[in-house]
Amino acid sequence: MPKRAERIASVPPYLFAEIDKKKAAAIARGVDVISLGIGDPDMPTPKFVVDKMKEAVENPKWHQYPDYDGSLAYRTAVTSFYKKRFGVELDPKTEALALIGSKEGLAHIIWAYIDAGDIALVPDPAYPVYKTHTLLAGGTPYIMPLVKENNFLPDLQAIPEDVARKAKIMFIDYPNNPTGAVATLDFYREAVAFARKYDILLVSDNAYSEMTYDGFKAPSVFEVEGAKEIAVEFWSLSKPFNMTGWRIAAVVGNAQAISALGIIKTNTDSGQFTAIQEAAIEALTNPAADQFIAEMNEIYTRRRDIAVAGLRAAGLDAQPMKGSFYLWVPVPAGHTSASFAALLLDEAGVIVTPGAAYGAYGEGFVRLSLCLKEERLVEALGRIRAACGGAPGSR
Ligand SMILES: *Cc1c(COP(=O)(O)O)cnc(C)c1O
Repeated sequence: MPKRAERIASVPPYLFAEIDKKKAAAIARGVDVISLGIGDPDMPTPKFVVDKMKEAVENPKWHQYPDYDGSLAYRTAVTSFYKKRFGVELDPKTEALALIGSKEGLAHIIWAYIDAGDIALVPDPAYPVYKTHTLLAGGTPYIMPLVKENNFLPDLQAIPEDVARKAKIMFIDYPNNPTGAVATLDFYREAVAFARKYDILLVSDNAYSEMTYDGFKAPSVFEVEGAKEIAVEFWSLSKPFNMTGWRIAAVVGNAQAISALGIIKTNTDSGQFTAIQEAAIEALTNPAADQFIAEMNEIYTRRRDIAVAGLRAAGLDAQPMKGSFYLWVPVPAGHTSASFAALLLDEAGVIVTPGAAYGAYGEGFVRLSLCLKEERLVEALGRIRAACGGAPGSR
């Protein structure tokens, strides 16, 4: 076999490897492992979407190659949703594009803007795609630390002038994975002003816009005046509609950026199955959709409150998140994120994600995902309490 491309070596090592090994060993020992590690909704896609898919799959019209940009009907459903939900006007013909999941689009927008040596402003901790694809494209990630003292928002004033001038793209992600932090319109205003000042493509990853709690409603970057001149926003059906397996999302915003991404995509994929787009239109337009999302959020709120109470009983400083379905919990003193995750797996049979897997500034935290049934969650919390109780004064 020939030597692999150098760019493969630029991808950071897989930090879950040790956890995966321990997990396999625990299962082999007969341990009933409970995972709080996976950010993947455990509940089914709404029936009205599944029913629409059954009907759409029968239509031979959809059996041929889809439109590269997504069907105009799907793009219109997305822009109509943006109008209804955020009060934002978008042209479905030039300012919206269908994606095979937003992960795909986030990866490819980097290839549309980053040449070797270009700078991307990347939050840390973060969803790994922003940094990984910047590295694969030969770019240089400039880390924007997300720390608790700043409510896990990047401090844009701390970015040196020469870095800001050179940067071509900046990623923001609220409601945030992995910290569960949310951003108000004030932050988006600041980010848009910064991006306009330095001519940086602002990429807003809004995968969790519909998953918020305690009355908080997440904004879109396009609620900010002038944002369309410099920004795109990624929005996905995966999390709000329990559709991670379907691979359907969209990007909206600046027409030049959408067209640049389109060039990469038409030369890479051939679009998403139109029947899936038909089902996604149903999700976006069915009158029962709002009720469905409200019910999901009630379930996540209940799980969150159970988890926060249980973690506090275990002596951990858990804070209820206002968005996403993740709790971002400081590890007890004397532990790293990896050692605490290993302890919970060994002593409690519970999987959590070490914060360091999301970047250096994730060290000192673990991420708990609330994608499991209440009774399993309660069982996991009891075991965590027992495992932590064994080390008095451990925090
Ligand atoms: C889950 C997630 C996505 C998107 O997922 P797709 O299924 O690819 O649409 C994007 N960004 C973040 C931060 C996520 O957590």
